[in-house]
Parts: sequence; structure tokens; C-alpha cells
Amino acid sequence: MNISIHFLGAAQSVTGSKHLLHFDDFQVLIDCGLFQGLKELRLRNWDPFPMDVSQVEALVLTHAHIDHIGYLPKFVKEGFDGPVYCTSATADLAKILLLDSAKLQEEEAEWAKKKGYSKHHPPKPLYTTEEAENTFRLFQPYEFDEDIYLRDDIRIKFHNAGHILGAGWVELTVQTERQQKTLVFSGDLGRYHQPILRDPVSMKQADVLVTESTYGDRDNLFEDPSEEFAQVVNEALERGGCLLIPAFALGRTQMVMYYLKTLMEAGTIPKVPVYLDSPMAISMTKLYKHHFSYHKLRDEDLSKESIFDYELFNYYRSAEASKGINEIRRNAIIVSSSGMCTGGRILHHLYHRLPREEDTILFVGFQAKGTRGRDILEQKETIRMFGQEVPLKMQVRKIDGLSAHADKNELLKWVSTLQEAPKRTFIVHGEIESAQALQQTLTQKLGWSNVHVPDYMEQHKLFDNI
Ligand SMILES: [Zn+2]
Repeated sequence: MNISIHFLGAAQSVTGSKHLLHFDDFQVLIDCGLFQGLKELRLRNWDPFPMDVSQVEALVLTHAHIDHIGYLPKFVKEGFDGPVYCTSATADLAKILLLDSAKLQEEEAEWAKKKGYSKHHPPKPLYTTEEAENTFRLFQPYEFDEDIYLRDDIRIKFHNAGHILGAGWVELTVQTERQQKTLVFSGDLGRYHQPILRDPVSMKQADVLVTESTYGDRDNLFEDPSEEFAQVVNEALERGGCLLIPAFALGRTQMVMYYLKTLMEAGTIPKVPVYLDSPMAISMTKLYKHHFSYHKLRDEDLSKESIFDYELFNYYRSAEASKGINEIRRNAIIVSSSGMCTGGRILHHLYHRLPREEDTILFVGFQAKGTRGRDILEQKETIRMFGQEVPLKMQVRKIDGLSAHADKNELLKWVSTLQEAPKRTFIVHGEIESAQALQQTLTQKLGWSNVHVPDYMEQHKLFDNI
């Protein structure tokens, strides 16, 4: 058997994760992510897939973030009809996120039609809500550590990656008559010692390792973020304004709620109303109750006295209630999505608050190049919103310690659980500086050889004639 890999996304960038494996002429795709951020990346979502999609036999999803699953409806539209393997939590979350992604695509096309800009005439969404729904029938949910046979001689297993609810790293084993080979895909790796999710599970053996590197150049994320978090909240409220926290609906929002409640109960920050303004985040939060085995929270934590329920927490689903928040001038905390300010309700909050000096915005997650979040973080003078240049006057803060991604030391800790160095290592899912920093660390600190940072569309032979 010959095995090769084709990097179709998240290569020297953080979005569009897609790794195509060829086992002779049996094809498996690991992750099916949407490109986001820079326009040149987003345009790739419209490129034809480099092979006949109907020839791909199976799809494996590491976790439910859109940059790992958001291309699926397009992939199915183009002819993929095989099984989609993932954990049961990933399947539940993916359905909510794909519907939301379709809605955003539809809204964007509608907006382009109104404004008269689009390369398509008439403007069309990448996929529709109906096309997103049409993928649900393909999901085949499993639990961590279960053997899943893609074919008699190819087996995969998900192991907890600690990144978001249900996120797994993938161990893929190929058994030929003569040899056994193991390929490991990190997906996105989470952090150690988190309050809600369990630590990433250790690896034992990998002939080929494909690892993420989002924070491959950062190694100071270790500290408990509560103190820094409390300081930002206190300063923001003392300025006499509101604190706005853009957060990914899944994972970050729940961490933020956890810390806000803990700090308020301890009296470290003032007890002010918190508005959770993201219908999707509310639905996601409920899913923690259905997927007990995936996190550390116990029954009583998720009951009425839940860490996500608190007298000062206000959950807003309706658009009218959401708009009402614009009237609040001081002493409130608003948590809304999307986390990188690319869409969702955060937009109207930003539109109203960006010019207000007394308000503060706090970033708690990674901001990719080309996103509005990155522009704000880099303190550009004006931010483009709804076709206007809005002056940026609000205070800008960030805390890295709440990230869902392992830092360099944690990535090292995880790869060091291997009994011996992989024969080949590919570093993906990181902007070039981070990927190269991790490459350097693996080669210099651990003495690994054959560590490569692949570029978009690069193809590599892994094994010949095994
Ligand atoms: Zn992720």
C-alpha cells in the first residue's frame, strides 16, 4: 500500500483545516473546514476541490469549530456521500454551528445583492440552510476510545484533546500484512488544568504526526487567568462604562461565565448584571448537560445552581432584547459572539460602543489575520462596519490565558508523551511565524528530524509499498 497526504487548508494559516489522505485509491479527509479571515483565504472556499469529491470514501471531524467543519455542506453539495465520523458531542454541536454558518452565508449574499457587489450574478451563498441540513444524515457519532473501522485495515480512534466539548485528536492505524503504521492528527489541542474540560490525553506512538501550532510561538499562557481577568473587569467598570467581551459561542463563552460567577461570588469584582447575548451560546451551554462524559462538571454544577446560572446572568435570545442592551451606559458586562467579530450580534454592540471612550472591549480568544477582531486588537483608527468607517475610541484589552489552544510548552508537553520521535512531523494550523517557532523547538529541543511546515496544496508521500 502507498500512503500520501495532501494539505488542502490550515497550512501556514489557521483556518480551512482539510488534510486529504490517499491509501492507494481509498481517500479519507480529516476535517472539512471553512477558510475565514483574509479575503484571499475566503476566496478558496469557492475553488473546486482538487479531486472528484465522490471519490472520497470517509470524512473524520476532530471538533465542531467552523474552521474544521464549515465546508461540509459544500462538500456534500459537490457529491460527497460517505460517512462523517466524529464524537457524539461534535455531532450535536456541528448541527447547530452549520445551520448558523448557512444563515450567515445567506445573509451575506442578501447583503451583497442589496449593495450590488459580488463576483456571482446574482450573489449566492456558499451553501443554504437546506444544504446544511442535508449533511446531518451522514453523521456517525462515536465516543472517545472506541475503535472505528473505515475499512478492514484502516481504523481510527478519538482521544480527548481538551480543546472544546467533544474535541478529539485522531489516532489512525493502518494494518497491512507486513506492517502497522500509526498516523496522529492533533486537531486543535486544548490546555492543561482547565476548570471545565479535562486535560488532553497522552499519545504513545506515532509514525506520522500532524500537529496544530496556533500558539507555537507563545509560552506564557500558563498562569491562572483569574487575577488578570479581575483586573480588566475592575478597571473597565471604574471607567464608568460597560465591558464588552466577544467570545466564541462554544467553549470561550462558558469559560467567561465560569470566571465571572466565581469572581463575583468571591467579591473580587463588583456584582453587576451580565448579558449573555448569543442565542447560539445559550443552546451550546445547554449541551453540556447532555454530554457529561466530556467535561469535569458534575450533576449538581449543572442543576439549578449551575455555574452557568446566576442571579446576575441574563440570557437574551430575542433580537429586540439584544438591541435594548445598547441603551445601557455603565456597570454592565456584555458577552456576545462571534469571537473574532466577523458576524453575529457582537456587530451591533461594536457599532454602538467602538466610539465610546468609557467602554472597554476584552478579547479572550485568538484573532486571525483579516478579521475585524484583529483590526480592533491592533488598534486601527477606524473599523469598517456596515459600510461605514467607525472610529475606534473604546479601550482594548486581551487575556491570553483563557485561550482554548495549548501554548508552546503545552504542545511540547503533549508531543513529549510519545515514546519515540515520529518519522515525519507536519506542522499545520498556525500562522507562519508560530508554525516555524514550533518547528524550531521540536528540532532543537527534542532533536526531532523531518519536521516540516507544509504550504497550501502541498502533497507528500508518507509510505511506499508497505
Ligand atoms: Zn478549534
